[in-house]
Amino acid sequence: MVSYKELGLVNTKKMFAKAVKGGYAIPAFNFNTMEQMQAIVQAAVETKSPVIMQVSKGARKYANPTILRYMAQGAVEYAKELGCKKPQIVLHLDHGDSYETCKSCIDSGFSSVMIDGSHLDFKENIKLTKKVVAYAHKHDVTVEAELGVLAGVEDEVSAAESHYTKPEEVIEFATKTGCDSFAISIGTSHGAYKFTPEQCTKDKNGKLVPPPLAFDILKAIEKKLPGFPIVLHGSSSVPQDEVDTINKFGGKLPDAVGIPESQLRKAAKSAVCKINIDSDSRLAMTAAIRKHFAENPGHFDPRQYLTPARENMKKMYIHKIMKVLGSNDKL
Ligand SMILES: [Zn+2]
Repeated sequence: MVSYKELGLVNTKKMFAKAVKGGYAIPAFNFNTMEQMQAIVQAAVETKSPVIMQVSKGARKYANPTILRYMAQGAVEYAKELGCKKPQIVLHLDHGDSYETCKSCIDSGFSSVMIDGSHLDFKENIKLTKKVVAYAHKHDVTVEAELGVLAGVEDEVSAAESHYTKPEEVIEFATKTGCDSFAISIGTSHGAYKFTPEQCTKDKNGKLVPPPLAFDILKAIEKKLPGFPIVLHGSSSVPQDEVDTINKFGGKLPDAVGIPESQLRKAAKSAVCKINIDSDSRLAMTAAIRKHFAENPGHFDPRQYLTPARENMKKMYIHKIMKVLGSNDKL
């Protein structure tokens, strides 16, 4: 058993309370590779932002859970080396699928876990979440739950259609489970293809415009549970310039569409205090690598193409922190 406190990590408790009060949201960036981790830490240190580094099931399969845990420990030390005296870094399990997975992450040094019981019926979701909360809180680890179902596909989490969170269920869910936050479904979606072209309208340039988020539901939830931390999953914006770069240099991502940043900015000012961003980092990395290979066909040293990839991800993270979430200058 390793406590996250020994590793210099923090849980989400104080961070979320401050974010809800201050009208901003904490970035939750997924990571699988050293370059992503470095870019996340550099961006957080330079903008003086707290940050959640999260690990999905796919990440654990790709990189190995032990390695990711040590990378998070390395992230804390790296942040200090970059001049941040008191880094606020959370190591979070994204979409925990069972009590056992959550327990093993807590035992190995995670400071926050998500238990995703959104595929279960309401009562079973409460039962499973409550069990995870009981174990997590014994170790001062915070728990994110999910109420409502998000559409989309990402890292083995998939659903064909979304079911919006029902505001009439949130009080019972929060009270009975004791969870510290929960993810809601108000129209965000996993992956780089969040909406089909049929679900979108077109602007004057012919670009796809996704349907707006259900802010009425978010408002109704906030009214039921004032100040309770709310989480948005599937909140990448799928930046058009990165998609264009990918397509220009041999990629094929037709009609990829995300959540407009203006909508996320509006959400960040409410009780939404954690916004999950994964696809945008993948796009930033891939765009830089495709461009680099097209311009430098002779290069074969991974450091040559991973350097601009890391730089492009860092630029994206800084943009999100400063222009979308507003979590800069909070350390
Ligand atoms: Zn998610």
